[in-house]
Amino acid sequence: MSKLPHLTTSIFTIMSKMAVDHNAINLSQGFPNFPIDERMADIIMDLAKADVHQYTPMAGYPPLMEKIGVLTLKSYNRVINQNTELLITAGATEAIFAALQALVRSGDEVLILDPSYDCYETPILLSNAKPVRVSLNEDYTPNFERIAQHISHKTRLLILNNPHNPSGKMWQENDFIQLENLLESYPNLLILSDEVYEYIAFENQHISVNTRKKLRDKSIITSSFGKTLHLTGWKIGYVIAPEHLMKEIKKVHQFLVFSVNSLSQAAINLYLDSFEIESVSKLYQSKRDFFANLMKDTPFELLPCDGTYFQVASYKHFSKENDLDFTKRLVTEFGVATIPLSIFYGDGTDLKRIRFCFAKDDETITKAAERLQKL
Ligand code: PMP
Ligand code: GLN
Repeated sequence: MSKLPHLTTSIFTIMSKMAVDHNAINLSQGFPNFPIDERMADIIMDLAKADVHQYTPMAGYPPLMEKIGVLTLKSYNRVINQNTELLITAGATEAIFAALQALVRSGDEVLILDPSYDCYETPILLSNAKPVRVSLNEDYTPNFERIAQHISHKTRLLILNNPHNPSGKMWQENDFIQLENLLESYPNLLILSDEVYEYIAFENQHISVNTRKKLRDKSIITSSFGKTLHLTGWKIGYVIAPEHLMKEIKKVHQFLVFSVNSLSQAAINLYLDSFEIESVSKLYQSKRDFFANLMKDTPFELLPCDGTYFQVASYKHFSKENDLDFTKRLVTEFGVATIPLSIFYGDGTDLKRIRFCFAKDDETITKAAERLQKL
């Protein structure tokens, strides 16, 4: 008997395959389509002959761990102990899986704020725990009244994702204050803060849980070099957590992968020496604006996008189709692949909204918009 009978192929795989099958422009799965930075290509070539091809220590390649420590200090003024509070993982996916497997016990409940990215639920189910899905407001701000209604003595952990996939919404100071107030009544509740898009923030600065003194001692924070360095296929991420939690997370990591790709870690370590982390937000802000401008000539209504490389658009005013059918029709009839937002909800809520990934070169964005202008 299957342990996960409800699980099927992810929408990202389905839509990317549909894009290939129908020769469509793929704005569905989130990944950049521009070429790797030449400097990174040179680093890889140089490293090919260096001594970086055997196992790294279990928790990560030490020089990169040191650099993440420096980055965390510079970005958030947080000093982390690299030996006890940091772990380099096979993407944020592994960080999230290892953290949930290590910390969530049978019978626990875990709050997931919907719409939510798809990798949270499975490790909770495999822990024999219960995912409790709580909807965000329709503008994707957290609804603390609703969150409070779903917290019980069984709640072990709350997952938040900021900046948010799929909506691009970012938490503001007041959201954190409300969360901190709520947690005063639940001192044992842990936070998993998925911050993989932390360096893709536009008008407002990203507020990391790393900066929240009341939260960070009970928080597991995940990040991904896949997003920050435009290298999603490398699957290198990391997790920061206080020592007593990290000790448990490392136990799972040790037997899930032991250690992660050495060449990629070494290359990222060298690349970070001269990488301007601020360039990431600038790049994607200009892409967001370029895309939004072209989309003005389509019938879509774009929702605000504060960060990430995703743009949500509503089609409610011109079609009543369910969002999965709508996105399938966009691929087959208009040659543009996107993601329906209902798949990010536990209960399939369909607000007639879809997600575009704008991490693409100008030509791809222009062509996609031209096709959508025919709608
Ligand atoms: N969390 C969110 C919100 C994501 O969008 C992604 C990337 N799809 C991940 C986690 C996983 O990141 P990685 O590719 O580094 O495993
Ligand atoms: N994070 C990517 C997205 O939201 C998907 C990655 C994947 O396919 N697992 O599009």
